[in-house]
Amino acid sequence: MTILERVISSFQSLGGVANLKDIYEVYKSISTKEEISKTFDRSIQARIEENSEDSDAFKGNNIFKTLYGKGKGVWFLVESFQNLDEAKFVYEFKQKNLSIWKEISKKKLHSNDYVRNQIKIHRGERGIYRDISRTKKFSFTDGICQSVLDTGEKYDDVLTDTHLTYFYPDTIHKTRDIGEINSLKNCCNLNIPIFVVLGIGRDKSKKEIRLGYVQRFNDDQRSFLISFVKEETKHVIPIDDIIEVQNEDESKDQLFVNSRERKKRLSSSRGNNQPKFSSDVFNYYQNECAVCGIKYFLEAAHIVPVKDKGSDNKRNGLILCKNHHKGFDDNFFKINPSNYKIEIIKKNGSLLNINRNSLNQLKNKPGKIFLDWRYTKYKR
Ligand SMILES: [Zn+2]
Repeated sequence: MTILERVISSFQSLGGVANLKDIYEVYKSISTKEEISKTFDRSIQARIEENSEDSDAFKGNNIFKTLYGKGKGVWFLVESFQNLDEAKFVYEFKQKNLSIWKEISKKKLHSNDYVRNQIKIHRGERGIYRDISRTKKFSFTDGICQSVLDTGEKYDDVLTDTHLTYFYPDTIHKTRDIGEINSLKNCCNLNIPIFVVLGIGRDKSKKEIRLGYVQRFNDDQRSFLISFVKEETKHVIPIDDIIEVQNEDESKDQLFVNSRERKKRLSSSRGNNQPKFSSDVFNYYQNECAVCGIKYFLEAAHIVPVKDKGSDNKRNGLILCKNHHKGFDDNFFKINPSNYKIEIIKKNGSLLNINRNSLNQLKNKPGKIFLDWRYTKYKR
């Protein structure tokens, strides 16, 4: 990738509009050591200015525009917005949330009154909150979400210290549900930080608030993956999500978790399937059980199990229905790594209604090293 390509990709990761400080940060995280010179920040600025009609140095294509004029250090991608006002609206919405976060993150718990009436980041008891009158503007016909409430009571949301799997609302008010979902999708596409308001146990009078970024959504699973900002981070941008270059090189697949991941695993506070692993697996495969094709009651299963320190690589995962997940865990059947054939191991395994012979119709396949490990470990 050229410097310019990496600058554009940094902007895209940040939702199309950003200040130079954040751009440098993301640029560093998506570049190799050799690609970062001592004066990389100057090169980035030069590429931006060469490709902006707003600049005297303009000589390329009009890719960037300044948000507040020259020398203010905030730029946006021309193609990402209808016009300057839209870019400004998005940038200021983000900055506002970040400044609220700076204020509220000093305290761990907040009263309902503070959340609703003083900082006004959530109203009522409904899940997704958007201030329609303020945010239904420009191309955002459903507004922009500002916070989600998760009490862990109504939906199967999965919460850990680092992530939240947040399920789409499903009420009798279909139009409103869709609008709310779209407003949260906007936050994903524009990299807007949102507040996650957590109900804490029985005490309904207090809320814990976290700052999160919607990493992705899955319409088949009807869920969002939200990652939380660590309290100690200097820059409040989701660097961890951005640098996590999706490992597409199978030869680099890692069988076991490293110590850092192991720590994360222990932090699970609710639910047993880690949101990140589950989301990776659901995005890698078709959304159906790998051995029976059913599209309901699906779970992300580990091939090398968690108890054996199996890694959270998506290729160490398989989508299975609850029934076949249990059957797999109890070794009723196994997958032959050489031809992906499904082999029934236990006598009564044939009662499980496995109606496929192999995993060959999966477009993306599980990793060979994981299947090998399991095939050898669980001999007939
Ligand atoms: Zn199944």
